[in-house]
Amino acid sequence: MSHRAGFVNILGKPNAGKSTLMNRLVGEKLSIVTPKAQTTRHRILGIVSEDEYQIVFSDTPGYLESRYGLHKAMMRFVETAIEDADIVLWVVDVTDEGDVAEYHEQLLQAEKLIVLLNKVDKLKGDEQAKLEQQWRAEAPNAVVLPISAEKGFNIDGLMGHILKMLPEGPPYYGKDELTDKSERFIAAEIVREKIFMNYRQEVPYACEVEVDSFKDEENLLRISALVYVERASQKGIVIGPKGAGLKKVGIEARKDLEAFFGKQVMLSLFVKVKENWRNDDRMLRYFGYNH
Ligand code: GDP
Ligand code: MG
Repeated sequence: MSHRAGFVNILGKPNAGKSTLMNRLVGEKLSIVTPKAQTTRHRILGIVSEDEYQIVFSDTPGYLESRYGLHKAMMRFVETAIEDADIVLWVVDVTDEGDVAEYHEQLLQAEKLIVLLNKVDKLKGDEQAKLEQQWRAEAPNAVVLPISAEKGFNIDGLMGHILKMLPEGPPYYGKDELTDKSERFIAAEIVREKIFMNYRQEVPYACEVEVDSFKDEENLLRISALVYVERASQKGIVIGPKGAGLKKVGIEARKDLEAFFGKQVMLSLFVKVKENWRNDDRMLRYFGYNH
């Protein structure tokens, strides 16, 4: 039988129910769940692996949900999330009348889109039927499914659609070696998040973080990470006057790393210019695209 594998990106406004849904979808089949694991562009929430398929779920990074009114950054993120995903799950909170995301139009462009009308347990009478009808008209190319992430309603139905829409292909991640990888992901994600918090606009998008060494010693985690930028000018910005920028990123990241791993952390950060890292083979491998 042919194997299926792919990335499923979950989008939706804060409070729509994304985390609750993830817990449902991943449930006992969970291979890894970390609060903050990610590849470069996806924040991985969970990987579900079975003999015949592997689904890599990810959602909107918290920094875009919370802190930024950065419309442009958000749009760019959504664009990337759609591009990179094999399937997009759009979680809509049916109890939130204003739940038309800023990126509504963009989402409708997604090739494989499932619109999830979540929290239907809160609806009365024929409200659900009306909403379904409305959304089927709104998103004629999408699969529209009423669900209740909290009550577990229609989650099997959703899983069935995901499996049907998932492309054929080999797994992206080794089915046994997930935990090992995830620690590096977590470390890279934390550093990356601090970069997003500390620099403006385009700079974070020009950065890529790679943890090149991760040593778990008895009382200390020794982590070394490379921050790749595309141009020398960006390197200057990231490092900052007298190194102040990078130092701040390092201190903040170390605090989070220590909280996450429950251990003292020594973190070394280096900034390197690497033109066109986005097109680089290594990056593609990192994403798991060229096995
Ligand atoms: P996120 O911000 O999108 O990750 O949303 P959460 O998963 O954290 O959920 C936000 C709130 O909505 C929480 O209080 C959940 O308990 C609640 N919630 C999520 N799904 C449902 C649902 O299907 N029905 C109801 N009634 N509440 C839900
Ligand atoms: Mg959440």
